[in-house]
Amino acid sequence: MKPAGIAFAIAAVVAIAIDGWMSEALTGHPLQVWIWASNAAIFLALGLQIRKLRRDKRSAERGMMRFTREAVSLYSLQGLQTDMNEAQERLTGYARHEAHGATYLLWFPTDMRATAQAAFALAVEGRPQHFDAVCVRKDGARVDVEVSYVPVLSGSRIVGVYGILKDISETKRNQELLQQSDKLAVVGELAAGIAHEIRNPLTSLRGFVQLAHEQKPSAYTEIMLSELDRIHVIASELLLLGKPQALDVTDKNVATLLESILTLVNTQAILHNVEIAFEREPDTEGIAVRCEETKMKQVFLNVLKNAVEAMPNGGVVTIRLERTGGDVHIRISDQGIGIPREELTRLGQAFYTTKENGTGLGLMISYNIIEQHGGRMTIESEESVGTTVDIRLPIAD
Ligand code: ADP
Ligand code: MG
Repeated sequence: MKPAGIAFAIAAVVAIAIDGWMSEALTGHPLQVWIWASNAAIFLALGLQIRKLRRDKRSAERGMMRFTREAVSLYSLQGLQTDMNEAQERLTGYARHEAHGATYLLWFPTDMRATAQAAFALAVEGRPQHFDAVCVRKDGARVDVEVSYVPVLSGSRIVGVYGILKDISETKRNQELLQQSDKLAVVGELAAGIAHEIRNPLTSLRGFVQLAHEQKPSAYTEIMLSELDRIHVIASELLLLGKPQALDVTDKNVATLLESILTLVNTQAILHNVEIAFEREPDTEGIAVRCEETKMKQVFLNVLKNAVEAMPNGGVVTIRLERTGGDVHIRISDQGIGIPREELTRLGQAFYTTKENGTGLGLMISYNIIEQHGGRMTIESEESVGTTVDIRLPIAD
């Protein structure tokens, strides 16, 4: 029993004893009624005071739950939900009345329930618990959360458990982003390193083949020479891509840029039975854009790679160069699998990929680069028909 309760009980016993003694001494005396009445008043006042104290304490707890930004549920010792705050409703998607009486396992996927059960059991014994988990919202969406189970004490007794969920999806995404960009930088460096190593022996190899060809010209040495030149071009491209961003922009001929990227992509295209056609309008001759060459090449490479990858059974990729007013349009169309309408809005989001080995970064980076150059990139697509990426850039004067 609590101290207030004990005081109340003692007061009651004393009052009854006094009453007993007085009622004998004062039987029939008019004062007896007064004493009874004043005793009753004292009891009533004491009782009300104790109730108020209890209510204050409970409303302080509720206030904490209501006003904290954390998503909090209150559970009975049996693990059934007795209350939850608005933040919890928002995070889980369940309304208070829907979750009332449900177990604390409600929003955990099956494979995480054992962990939650173990943690809850320890919290019931008075040991607060924290663990990372996934919360499956009512609409089925999954949110990364940090879960805390904290015992609720009344005096020294444990009367329930607070379950607190903290949304950590943002933190997780940032961590992944950091890891991914690290990975990209490492891959770029690696590619550049290898390309550099290849170019040196290549130069001497080419020199000797050239010599052999001059001494005894043959169809074989001629093929060898042209293939060696191809390796040289590819290695140079890789070197450029891996370079840390050179910051200066220069006027670059668009057609030349595209042609140099074609050399790179063609290898992959041939493997996939894909043909790349390059169509240009006569008035696009000599058109240049003010750009950072490496970055612009990165965009064309990303988009062309996507086009080739969208056609697992081969087909044609068409690159069209057009001019409208002060802009040049580079339209890259494929006859590939296309993109479902509802997925179109997700293009350009980091890590959105439908490929087993995809990074989901190509389009995001491309959108960024085109924007940095004062241009616009739009994507149109129809499922099983194909996709067209339209890149519009201001022509350099
Ligand atoms: P990744 O190629 O690594 O998956 P991207 O950012 O380049 O990343 O592309 C993201 C996603 O967009 C792809 O996984 C694919 O689902 C879709 N996509 C992009 N281009 C095309 C295309 N030409 N045809 C069909 N789907 C495409
Ligand atoms: Mg891609």
